[in-house]
Amino acid sequence: MEFIDIQAQYMHLKKEIDPAVLDVMASGQFIMGNAVTEFEQEFARYLNVKHVVSCANGTDALQLLYMAWGIGKGDAVFVPDITFIATHEPACLLGAEAVFCDIDPVSWNLCPKALEERIIAVQKEGRLTPRCIVGVDFLGNPCDWDALAELADKYGLLLLEDSAQGSSGFYKGKACGSFGHAAATSFFPTKPLGCFGDGGAIMTNDSELAEVLRSLRVHGKGTSKYDNIRIGVNSRLDTIQAAILSVKLTHLERENALRQNIADTYTKALFPYCLTPVIEPCSKSAFAQYTIQLKDTAQRDMLMDALKQNGIPCLVYYPAAQHQLPIFKETVWAKNVKFPHSVNYVERSLSLPFSPYITPEDQQKVIAVLLEALA
Ligand SMILES: *Cc1c(COP(=O)(O)O)cnc(C)c1O
Repeated sequence: MEFIDIQAQYMHLKKEIDPAVLDVMASGQFIMGNAVTEFEQEFARYLNVKHVVSCANGTDALQLLYMAWGIGKGDAVFVPDITFIATHEPACLLGAEAVFCDIDPVSWNLCPKALEERIIAVQKEGRLTPRCIVGVDFLGNPCDWDALAELADKYGLLLLEDSAQGSSGFYKGKACGSFGHAAATSFFPTKPLGCFGDGGAIMTNDSELAEVLRSLRVHGKGTSKYDNIRIGVNSRLDTIQAAILSVKLTHLERENALRQNIADTYTKALFPYCLTPVIEPCSKSAFAQYTIQLKDTAQRDMLMDALKQNGIPCLVYYPAAQHQLPIFKETVWAKNVKFPHSVNYVERSLSLPFSPYITPEDQQKVIAVLLEALA
């Protein structure tokens, strides 16, 4: 059994993916071939946004946005304490500081109340300029985008959606990847929409921003890549990956329906014994992962052992909050601040094997081992 079975997905889609890849091979257009623009347009239509600017990975997508917005030294970027470091790492690389905010105990996403407290704390300290709020659709569950947009407006901040885990998620009828002033996503193989290597994209309705991003991803090009008008990077989505993504995009909604079913089956079996995911009625989760919370660390570790003994993979995703990481734990935004809900999450959470193509037999085996260990 795999934790996320991407091979099973390939076997299901092989008939469509193989010819798409062979077409690119035959065309020889490996860099910025037609398939790249085609995928950008298809994804933009799916998300209902004006522009999709693809790039080499999700971390670069975030970095390109921070660069385009001129975020750097003296700036504060507000992020949830539970996320992957890539959410804010590129902002730190550019000289900004990440300000960690506790999560909501139910949705496990950036808590608007904790966020506002941190914005006020940064204003009080007076050393940094608050610039940007980053909401992460953690585990595929959409953020409270209305509340985050309200705070961004109130304090005059940019709002960025990190939808790396959110593709196929929806909030109040709008697709994840279409919120904020811009969104960044990842096509890492195990994400809800993944390619067969690295890939990423930025989504925005801001045409001026999209033009700057298209320049930044090709060495700050002007009319051509030998007419450089700014310092940029080299960050492009491979044509082969774009061709694969176009095929996978046509299956995204169907696969999300499979994910919903598998999540429902887990929840029905497990909710009497542990905390199962809570998705608001106005939201549809992308279910990038299926994660439960146990009574305490001891119970969680006991279950991990039981699963391991039965050859079932599982993961603590993530094993540390951002404020606990060696690189951040001595910063002012990690010290002297309490993060009760993110610490609770790290100590008690457990992610189970989950993918659209997990077999009913495998899922029942996971459930049986869990129920036996919990009894
Ligand atoms: C995966 C991920 C990223 C980074 O994406 P890469 O394509 O691996 O660079 C950023 N943010 C979140 C929340 C992620 O899960």
